[in-house]
Amino acid sequence: MQTKFQALTELCEKLEGTSKRTLMVDLVANFLKKLRVDEVEPATSMMLGRAFPKWNQRTLEVSWATLSGVIKRLTNIEWKSFSEAFSKTGDIGSTAKVVFETTKIQKQATLLEKPLTILEVRRSLEAIAEATGSGSRERKERLLKTLLGTATPLEVKYIVKVLVGEMRTGFHEGLMELAVSKAFDVPHNAVQTASMLTGDIGEVAKTAKVQGKEGVLKIRFRFFRPVKPMLAQTAQNVNEALREHGGETAFEYKLDGARIQIHKSGDIIRFFSRRLTDVTKSLPEVVQLVRNEVVARKAVLEGEVIAVGEDGNPLPFQHLMRRFRRVHDIEVMVKQIPVELYLFDLIYLNGQSLTTTPYVERREKLRERAGSIPLTKQIITNSPKEAEKFLKKAMNRGHEGLVAKKLDSLYTPGVRGKRWFKIKMSLEPLDLVIVAAEYGYGRRHGWLSDYHLAAQEPDTGRFLMVGKTFKGLTDKEIIWMTKQLRDLAVREERGVVVVVPQIVVEVAYNEIQESPKYECGMALRFARITRIRNDKSPREADTIQRIKEIYEKQFRAKDRYLPF
Ligand code: AMP
Repeated sequence: MQTKFQALTELCEKLEGTSKRTLMVDLVANFLKKLRVDEVEPATSMMLGRAFPKWNQRTLEVSWATLSGVIKRLTNIEWKSFSEAFSKTGDIGSTAKVVFETTKIQKQATLLEKPLTILEVRRSLEAIAEATGSGSRERKERLLKTLLGTATPLEVKYIVKVLVGEMRTGFHEGLMELAVSKAFDVPHNAVQTASMLTGDIGEVAKTAKVQGKEGVLKIRFRFFRPVKPMLAQTAQNVNEALREHGGETAFEYKLDGARIQIHKSGDIIRFFSRRLTDVTKSLPEVVQLVRNEVVARKAVLEGEVIAVGEDGNPLPFQHLMRRFRRVHDIEVMVKQIPVELYLFDLIYLNGQSLTTTPYVERREKLRERAGSIPLTKQIITNSPKEAEKFLKKAMNRGHEGLVAKKLDSLYTPGVRGKRWFKIKMSLEPLDLVIVAAEYGYGRRHGWLSDYHLAAQEPDTGRFLMVGKTFKGLTDKEIIWMTKQLRDLAVREERGVVVVVPQIVVEVAYNEIQESPKYECGMALRFARITRIRNDKSPREADTIQRIKEIYEKQFRAKDRYLPF
């Protein structure tokens, strides 16, 4: 007998209701044990807020307009009531549940006869994803209407969560690995390794159920299934990286582009983004380059693609993003935004996984196989002075900073550890004024936690917005800030509380971008508050002029040099 979808939603409710990790793992492990084999992967994916396994390139392509339109039509709810319900719960799934409950749709009779099953929900999601091309929006709407129309309010809550891709139960992939290990009695590290290699825990769970430990241990890397990328922790400076890596390390330029994992099997070449999406179509000339240059029958390589300007210098990340967003007329984009590939790792070569081969050896093999494709510029040193000089050079040439890689480090997929450190020379922080704030959602529901940051325009005295951030403050500081801002509030417009410009905060950021979004034409990238400046008045804060100067300096640095 198929498992009811309701059982899954009840489990998710229990997960939402606790923060005890061991309890969560036990609950999920017990649930997984009871499922049919064909239900294990769909249930695992859905519990993590995914309609399909991670490696699967299918996407639902349901916009918020489509989803909210269907909810409105099914419940006959006024938009205002939906917004009100949303501001109470701060969660779209929970809001949908509330409106379905209060409007009591007349479908209870059929529902009692035939409850939804996990597999039926998966099939509906597949049908929604498969609706593409002309008329797809109407078809998606119809399918959604049927699915949500046959669901109970609690089921609606979790279907909506899967549709928007956010469960918010606190049960994440790491805990799922523990649950799979417990449910099917497979060692945790075997589950973790298999999950990294397949890029998806759902499939590992299914193998564990059918074949147990032996099956999981046999799971190998597979072509055209991206491996989760190894990640880097932040180090404050080159000294920290040298110390942690035992006195000597490799420093590479950290390029500000998009990471791609390249799978090459004969003439077939595919690129996967950091989030494991297939991006091959966006980069046709790079496919050609890899085909011509890489000397290997079968290989998995990693590299960074960066956009370059007419003068060959690197362009800010946003230019590159235009390449990835484009679906049509890609050839035009190839001309408009030239890109360059720099390789930095080799994790599989002609039948052999290199994940357990030390970094220096992988790098040597990469050099042998890369043809004319450049590798990220690198030095190996034990001298802080030399490393510092290399960092300055990287920054001057328009790159983001350095990545320090431990010489004997293995490739650990999906892990953000100390074997790789990213080091940036931070730009000087700015003192900015909060001119408005928005309420947060989820845990920050009810707090003014998203801040609009502005700098003053000296001639007019006006405060012009240059960015937004919800990062950097502690819970205690957010509560304090909420109280202050409420006292300074002048009006509230569509969830934005406009305040008297009074509070000054110190803000760190990675870059100043050109942006049409704000009147001043610039925006801070990755802004985060580093300090509340109670000691400064708004008139002492930084000016738009100063931000412009920093922006121009960024480009002057880039203009002066060739990329390498
Ligand atoms: P972050 O995104 O800040 O965590 O930094 C890690 C990212 O830096 C990687 O995912 C790559 O996309 C990028 N990156 C740029 N240059 C390198 C490099 N030489 N080695 C590794 N990663 C690099």
